[in-house]
Amino acid sequence: KWDEILETVKTEHELSDVSFKTWLKPLTIHSIDDQVVTILVPSQQVGLNYISKKYALPLKVAISELTGSDYDIKFVLPEDIQNVEKDVPVSTNYNTSMEIANLNPKYTFDTFVVGSNNKFAHAASLAVAESPGEIYNPLFLYGGVGLGKTHLMHSVAHFILERNPSTKILYTTSEEFTNELIEAIRNGNNTAMTKFREKYRNIDVLLIDDIQFIIGKESTQEEFFHTFNALHSAKKQIIISSDKPPKDMEILEDRIRSRFEWGLLADISSPDYETRVAILRKKEEMDGYNLDDSIIEYIAKNIKSNIRELEGSLNKIIAYANLEKREVTMELAETVLKDIISPNDKKIITPEYIINAVAEHYDITPEDIIGTKRNSKVVYPRQIAMYLCRELANIPLKSIGQCMGNRDHTTIMHGCDKIEQELQNSQTTQKAIEILKKKLQPGN
Ligand code: ADP
Ligand code: MG
Repeated sequence: KWDEILETVKTEHELSDVSFKTWLKPLTIHSIDDQVVTILVPSQQVGLNYISKKYALPLKVAISELTGSDYDIKFVLPEDIQNVEKDVPVSTNYNTSMEIANLNPKYTFDTFVVGSNNKFAHAASLAVAESPGEIYNPLFLYGGVGLGKTHLMHSVAHFILERNPSTKILYTTSEEFTNELIEAIRNGNNTAMTKFREKYRNIDVLLIDDIQFIIGKESTQEEFFHTFNALHSAKKQIIISSDKPPKDMEILEDRIRSRFEWGLLADISSPDYETRVAILRKKEEMDGYNLDDSIIEYIAKNIKSNIRELEGSLNKIIAYANLEKREVTMELAETVLKDIISPNDKKIITPEYIINAVAEHYDITPEDIIGTKRNSKVVYPRQIAMYLCRELANIPLKSIGQCMGNRDHTTIMHGCDKIEQELQNSQTTQKAIEILKKKLQPGN
């Protein structure tokens, strides 16, 4: 959207590429409040005064054209923001709190579809959101990749912030936590460490995502243990996510494991078909599309394990249709999703396909194989082809016979037996079969 706005300014004012690159491209949105868009000017070199004189109005116009609402424009430098944040460490503004907390604005309870796979985790999260620090502490959410753990965690944070924007919430991943800890340790002075501790202990709600990554990292576990204790004893809410339950987290210190189990464990599993359809519909509604039922059902039927993939598929179809300026039809959906749905779908292996491959391998023609010549140069490959047809083509011997020059099914059976015997004794045959099988089914 922001890119679009910049492009609009560029087109409407016929800016050259170089002006565009120099002045507009580096600008980013810092925040959007009710009436004000605050734009971050990355550095002094790009003159703030010049930009605000020259581009404030064009930007204002473009924003109003593209969003349909009027905003004032404010420019800030990175230094300004730091000062602001130092002066007012606790914001009472929802948008700013959301940014400080490091939250994705899209991950709310409103956009979360409740299904049988996540009902319990959802209810637990909502309960925690309604009374943070009071009932389930910690809340431990676990489940496979792309099933909605991060989304739920953020929903709790949004819910709390909406009611009380001054709540100090921090979302982080265990990797970030580890990196910051390493950084603080490397700095080697007490202030760095104190700062780190202040950051994580001086908050009301800590969301820590993908905790499984602290497994095996001793100092991180140690530090986290103390962070946990400090927050927990101060009745501050902790929400943890992981790809597995604590009991399955091997090499996790027992004292930490037991703490994870103090509160409430809630798992999220794979969504069933109805939930998948509901999620696709929700997404469609949010993005303002309206696809045919059959297409939604097609996606939901085929993409089962992971919600991120489910959404990705829908996006891909829509992007493709937009790009090609085509309607979203079933045919288009099938084409677009072919790779995702069956990446190494075994090509249907037909006798013809096998015969060609075998012929090529032995440097003879397919006709030689189908034909009736009886010299050893063709008889052996012919039997190999029969054998591979039986193993891979998944059709009755009778049909194999028909495809191989109308031979009787007993002839095919005989050929197969021959090769089976060879396989017991001959390394050459073993090798040949191995190579040909690989060639015929590359996925396996
Ligand atoms: P995880 O953290 O478990 O790997 P995410 O929370 O990142 O998974 O979810 C992956 C994607 O699926 C996100 O875009 C999220 O919004 C979406 N998603 C997951 N669960 C739901 C749900 N129940 N309703 C709507 N969207 C969901
Ligand atoms: Mg996640």
